[in-house]
Amino acid sequence: MSFSIQFLGTGTSVGVPQIGCDCATCTSADPRDRRRRTGVYVRAGGTAFLIDTPPELREACLDYKIRKVDAVVLTHAHMDHIAAFDDVRRFNTLNGKKPMNCYAAPETIASMRQIFPYISDKANTQGLFRPMIFFKPVTRAFRLGEVKVTPLPVVHGPRTNGYLLEHAGKRLAYLPDCIEIPPKTLARIKGADVMVVDCLRAREHPTHMNLERSLAALAAAGAKRGYLVHFSHDVKHAEFSKRLPRGVRLSYDGLVVRV
Ligand SMILES: [Zn+2]
Ligand SMILES: [Zn+2]
Ligand SMILES: [Zn+2]
Repeated sequence: MSFSIQFLGTGTSVGVPQIGCDCATCTSADPRDRRRRTGVYVRAGGTAFLIDTPPELREACLDYKIRKVDAVVLTHAHMDHIAAFDDVRRFNTLNGKKPMNCYAAPETIASMRQIFPYISDKANTQGLFRPMIFFKPVTRAFRLGEVKVTPLPVVHGPRTNGYLLEHAGKRLAYLPDCIEIPPKTLARIKGADVMVVDCLRAREHPTHMNLERSLAALAAAGAKRGYLVHFSHDVKHAEFSKRLPRGVRLSYDGLVVRV
């Protein structure tokens, strides 16, 4: 049974390189220092879905030859996670002009309806110039094809969910944007086979974990393997990765992790 995630992007909200920056990371020749905004593509058995639709979604789908998307799951309505939501209409077409389910917290769906008021679940006669979406508010575990998906509320800013994905006896916890993991969420992800967690940089930040917090969260969850994500340009891959303990790695764009 195959169960994997692919990182479509691993950068923080402004991306890396940042516009107009000449720092060592922004000018690095290491492809791992070139980061789209954060999102993942999940494959589990015959099910495939996106978690978030970051601004460079289209380029990522072209680069990684992604053509099967059954649904979209959203963590929160910050623009670096939803900006390319309109591009989902291409998958409406590939799926035979069928509406697609989009799962998110009720507050996130309310924001999506404000930001994308033209999005409809009705077929339209003028061609697929807008996505056809069924918004599905989620507050507890649900099934998405062959995957059990459990929302994991975290502290970040707006209402934000990470997600626990379970398939064929394996568990993956994905928490890309958070400053704090509440005890109830931590209890749900204990002993996860893989845990992906926010790590903006070494210095503290008001809404994102820094390295110290990320490592403490991975240890508290007892995750078997940890991957850090959502990096700013303070994180130069080759150097920053030397600061990690065994079992913890930096993600990079395009990386596929088998659970
Ligand atoms: Zn973000
Ligand atoms: Zn820079
Ligand atoms: Zn955010």
